[in-house]
Amino acid sequence: MSVTGGCLCGAVRYRIDGPLSPVVACHCSQCRKASGHHVASASAPRDSIAVAGELRWFASSALARRGFCPVCGSNLFWDGQGPDMAIHAGSFDGDPGVRLVAHIFCADKGAYYEIADGLPQAPAGRSGLPEDIT
Ligand SMILES: [Zn+2]
Ligand SMILES: [Zn+2]
Repeated sequence: MSVTGGCLCGAVRYRIDGPLSPVVACHCSQCRKASGHHVASASAPRDSIAVAGELRWFASSALARRGFCPVCGSNLFWDGQGPDMAIHAGSFDGDPGVRLVAHIFCADKGAYYEIADGLPQAPAGRSGLPEDIT
């Protein structure tokens, strides 16, 4: 089964032919600045993601870059140094078959909202989550 998605204007499209992880919400300040709120993303092996269209990359830290559509500005990808790349869940077409399971970098969340869905929360990275989620 493949999962497809793309940006708001349609200039960038992608297809994922590989395992997709559950969705995790990241509340770090970089995700909040880049997206306008927190980021919810799923991960897939980088070599299972095929992108069509011109994607632009922003180096948001020494360790990661963020891929976005240069036409409409939609945030689509977070690319760290591991074998997987994160895909922003809001960009999926239809139901990707995976669900939100946890929140990370909660100590860095915005002051203007609460996280009240009952899912596990880690103050920083995924290592603070229950083992069955990481
Ligand atoms: Zn676009
Ligand atoms: Zn983040």
